[in-house]
Amino acid sequence: MPSGDYYETLGVPRNADEKEIKKAYRNLARKYHPDVCKEPGAEEKFKQINEAYQVLSDSQKRAQYDHMGHDTYTNASRGSYTGGGGFGGGGFSADFSGFGDIFDFFGGGFGGRQQSGPQPGHDLLMKIQINLDDAVFGTDREIEVTHSEACPACNGTGSETKKLITCTRCGGTGQMRQMSQTIFGQFVRMSTCTECHGRGRVPEKRCPECKGTGHTQVKRKVSVHVPAGIESGMRLRMEGYGEAGDYGAPNGDLFIEVYVRPHDRFTRHGDNLETIVAVSPAQAVLGSVTEVETIDKRQVELNIPAGIQHNTALKIPGEGVRRRAKPGDLLVRVKIVTPKNVSGEQKELYERIMELEGNRPLEHKKGFFSGLKGKK
Ligand SMILES: [Zn+2]
Ligand SMILES: [Zn+2]
Repeated sequence: MPSGDYYETLGVPRNADEKEIKKAYRNLARKYHPDVCKEPGAEEKFKQINEAYQVLSDSQKRAQYDHMGHDTYTNASRGSYTGGGGFGGGGFSADFSGFGDIFDFFGGGFGGRQQSGPQPGHDLLMKIQINLDDAVFGTDREIEVTHSEACPACNGTGSETKKLITCTRCGGTGQMRQMSQTIFGQFVRMSTCTECHGRGRVPEKRCPECKGTGHTQVKRKVSVHVPAGIESGMRLRMEGYGEAGDYGAPNGDLFIEVYVRPHDRFTRHGDNLETIVAVSPAQAVLGSVTEVETIDKRQVELNIPAGIQHNTALKIPGEGVRRRAKPGDLLVRVKIVTPKNVSGEQKELYERIMELEGNRPLEHKKGFFSGLKGKK
């Protein structure tokens, strides 16, 4: 669905706040709602307004959109991906377990067919879940899609003879003229032909297999390449894998919305990954070499510099998301962990350190209460 810049679509500046965006959306949606606006292209315009609003009203999607630019965000064909737009709500229900949720997307909607001639097929939306490592490296998935295809019995024509004839009711225009006489004069109202539903042509002899629709529902396995670097909420577009169009019109597209499951050791920030490494107080003071496991389970050496402070992030270059020519980094956040149990020898050394620091140790064997009693 080609559309211009989302900010231009809503007619707001790039720094518009939530309120301005909402206001602009309301005004435009009211103006172009297909039930209200009969101007040609209103339905398309209405969809674009909605698409723009879905993205710009969601701070996360908006940030993604600002970051990637319109073309990268929306041009999704073949092996690239697109950010989420369009479909309402966001958020995934807990019982969503991977494959299979397909529902009609964009299509169906407003006021039925408005254009004449063969109608393109509707788009479909499907959601899948992947692990973070698959998002980092990319993955190939086979998914099962139920969609309509051209009926094999009639080649998608809807006619047993595979021939279509001009609709007699509308003379092939797909439109019907209704004349009405009022006190103000004669009015002509155009409406979609009820016989051919605007197509202009009808099957010569209705195909018994598809009852003249030209379509049949089939389940297909589709292999999907999920590119490296994909983020939750982004959509892959598979051109032509949506619902079948009318005979002679293109199919809809299949959109695959990807949800990335959280990882137990890594979090993602743009192209960077972040993980945690625990070090002892001695390692933090003296500096140390430690090993960190990367997301693809390799052990990488990491130098902890002497005197490091708790919560400092150290960078391992190139071990982040490999989406672009320059991959992201792995940030290792250092947590200084105090040991709870130490050996007698370790304890002696800690006591010696504390002595050198000039700090006073806790008094041994006397608890808080015995200390109070002693003062009486
Ligand atoms: Zn058929
Ligand atoms: Zn007709």
